[in-house]
Amino acid sequence: MGNVIDGKAVSAKVRKDVAKEVKMLGVKGVQVGLAVVIVGDDPASKIYVNNKKKACEAAGIISREYALPAETTEAELLGLIQQLNADREVNGILVQSPVPPHIDEGLIVEHIDPYKDVDAFHAVNVGKIVIGDYAFLPCTPAGVIELIHSTGTEIAGKHCVVIGRSNIVGKPMAMLLLHNNGTVTICHSKTQNIKEVCRSADILVSAVGRANFVTVDMVKEGAIVIDVGMNRDESGKLCGDVDYGPVSEIASFITPVPGGVGPMTIAMLLKNTVTAARIQNNITGD
Ligand code: NAP
Repeated sequence: MGNVIDGKAVSAKVRKDVAKEVKMLGVKGVQVGLAVVIVGDDPASKIYVNNKKKACEAAGIISREYALPAETTEAELLGLIQQLNADREVNGILVQSPVPPHIDEGLIVEHIDPYKDVDAFHAVNVGKIVIGDYAFLPCTPAGVIELIHSTGTEIAGKHCVVIGRSNIVGKPMAMLLLHNNGTVTICHSKTQNIKEVCRSADILVSAVGRANFVTVDMVKEGAIVIDVGMNRDESGKLCGDVDYGPVSEIASFITPVPGGVGPMTIAMLLKNTVTAARIQNNITGD
């Protein structure tokens, strides 16, 4: 039976370090602030925003929520982004995805000041991640790296297979594994022989968004399995991409859903917000 990687425990440590830094910045006269913008009434988004708000409060970060009606126009949202870009009390800006279909999400992200882009979605930050010279970590992939490190496993030289190539998870995940000297393969819906490819992974990261996608015959004995997926099973229960029971029997380490990657994403968001406050106030070191 594989060891369960406790995302709650690992994220609690990151959050504790963030809270310490926030306090230290407070002593220097810097109050860390995050603006969270939500457009419309998607119930899942409301839960995410609420969780982010609570996490900010616990770490001593001031969070400001901007809950806008679904009819908000693109121009109005861009106006708010400009206002937040100019607001010195706002170090980080996050626009909760998804926005209503009449708003171009990419356009909104491109208008966020890259130094306040704590999701690291702006093209400038994506580019920096690719060249390996980055301040902001893409939250979910960075959380995954922390989880792998928590097992004491060296990523260098390992075959890392990422299933999924989205801009927010799969691609930056592959980049971070590469920066850690992993040998990286990215799988997607057009990949041939996906079972065989996955079975050759020492570290398998699944970010597909389909319950029970990763079956036990896709996993090498002793592999580390990280499940980024967040899905609902037939009974409406939250689950990941991995067929957890059988896979946990052969994996060396595995993340559960819930309680694995999810808590890390928020912790890394807080970390980025502190980094943003440091950059904007020219504070380096302790
Ligand atoms: P996405 O944009 O829908 O991307 C899914 C990826 O899976 C795509 O690259 C797609 O390939 C690939 N895929 C779909 N079917 C496949 C198949 N049959 N074989 C191989 N690859 C296949 O999703 P996302 O935004 O990356 O999110 C992925 C999952 O992670 C979702 O469940 C999401 O809820 C979850 N998530 C969790 C967190 C967290 O904090 N835990 C954060 C973000 C996302 P193509 O590109 O070829 O279509």
